[in-house]
Amino acid sequence: MTRFVLVGGGVATAATATGLREGGFDGEIVIVAGESHLPYERPPLSKEYLAGTFAVTDFQANDESWYSDNAVELVLGTRVLAVSPGERRVSLSDGRPLGYDALVLATGVRARTLPGFDGDRVHALRTLADSERLGSRLVAGSRLAVLGAGFVGCEVAAVAAARGVRVTVFEPEPLPLGRALGPEVGRAITGIHAENGVEIRTGQVIRSMTETGSGLELTTRDGEVVECDELLVGVGSVPNVELAVAAGLEVGGAAGGGILTDEFGRTSAPDVYAIGDVAERFYPPHGRRIRVEHHDTAVKHGANTARNLLGEAEPFTDRHFFWSHQYDHNLQSLGRFTAEGTRVVRGSLEERSFTVFSLVDGRIGAMVALNRPRDLLQARKVMAVPHEVTADQLADEEFPLKSLLPSKASARRSEVAG
Ligand SMILES: Cc1cc2nc3c(=O)[nH]c(=O)nc-3n(C[C@H](O)[C@H](O)[C@H](O)COP(=O)(O)OP(=O)(O)OC[C@H]3O[C@@H](n4cnc5c(N)ncnc54)[C@H](O)[C@@H]3O)c2cc1C
Repeated sequence: MTRFVLVGGGVATAATATGLREGGFDGEIVIVAGESHLPYERPPLSKEYLAGTFAVTDFQANDESWYSDNAVELVLGTRVLAVSPGERRVSLSDGRPLGYDALVLATGVRARTLPGFDGDRVHALRTLADSERLGSRLVAGSRLAVLGAGFVGCEVAAVAAARGVRVTVFEPEPLPLGRALGPEVGRAITGIHAENGVEIRTGQVIRSMTETGSGLELTTRDGEVVECDELLVGVGSVPNVELAVAAGLEVGGAAGGGILTDEFGRTSAPDVYAIGDVAERFYPPHGRRIRVEHHDTAVKHGANTARNLLGEAEPFTDRHFFWSHQYDHNLQSLGRFTAEGTRVVRGSLEERSFTVFSLVDGRIGAMVALNRPRDLLQARKVMAVPHEVTADQLADEEFPLKSLLPSKASARRSEVAG
């Protein structure tokens, strides 16, 4: 019987298994995951689960019964130690060899660590266990320092502040999230956190950390000493490519490089695919490979790979979608901002209800919306079809984005002509 082995305990493997069964595959599916939990979604780890409003069962990729009902074998708490592409076999940490007809690597990323920043009061956030440990330390009145004002750092700061923790975030860049989403969002996020009592100290680098009897002392580049009880290091991630490297698969050379694949998710080894956060995949709309760490992309990679394993040759062209929640604010982003795009703001920066579009050759290339889910819903449809738009139209809130859809656009043109 044909056997597909899927490595990883995140949404990418779960989506692949789901897609395979929905697509009629009746061979063996084995998911091997290093963590001992059912495959789960990570976004709640810095939001609802950390805040205590979600139970673990609220964010499992599939219920436990789904795996038995669909004859998907789960090998949990077990790592794949080696891949032998020539023999089509993996070696498991429980000593078992496991043959495959196709192998899907979805080994994800791990939190980047900083030398000299470790110990019982120092946290990273990537797994359920990390979230539980950090959550148990967020006691009202205590002090949390966060290194890095990226998404994870900002989301944890928001949850901690809501739980009565005094939070300071240190960020070397001039703005939080600035590099990913631009200055408008960065400024808005700084203001939102300040209103909630969280100080984001930008342009600040923490050089070293010392443990005292009762907490931690952090020393900034300028020699200032800051005390805290707990420290979250949220300074990015490192793709888990070691397995692929040892197996001789091609891996991206740049820092943070992932397992290289073509547009169909195929690696340099026959019948070995790489998907989700770990994959550096050729992306036809950009004409180059990119690695994306978004939940929605990992799920869609899984569904796409299932179809390709079942005999289709479907390239992955979906625009990358990301969201974040901080306090009562909702951030959603679609597509990639590139240097050639012109930034156009729609809405009110002061009221924190705005969308920034990237206008590229008369088309919407990317967008980020703060508290404007409607803009995203409409622009998502527009971005999926050929359209033409000007900066003035995008900036004009009276101009309905949905009028850019082909049927509406021709009606609008005849109205103007008439
Ligand atoms: C705290 C946090 C908040 C996030 N919030 C958002 C958000 O709001 N929006 C959003 O779009 N994205 C968010 N993300 C990103 C999103 O969770 C990831 O894009 C997604 O988890 C990627 O899924 P994946 O299946 O590729 O990898 P992962 O979920 O990382 O799963 C990889 C799995 O592989 C396992 N593994 C690794 N090596 C081996 C091995 N050798 N053998 C067996 N198993 C192995 C790991 O243990 C892990 O279980 C967040 C991530 C984190 C950590």
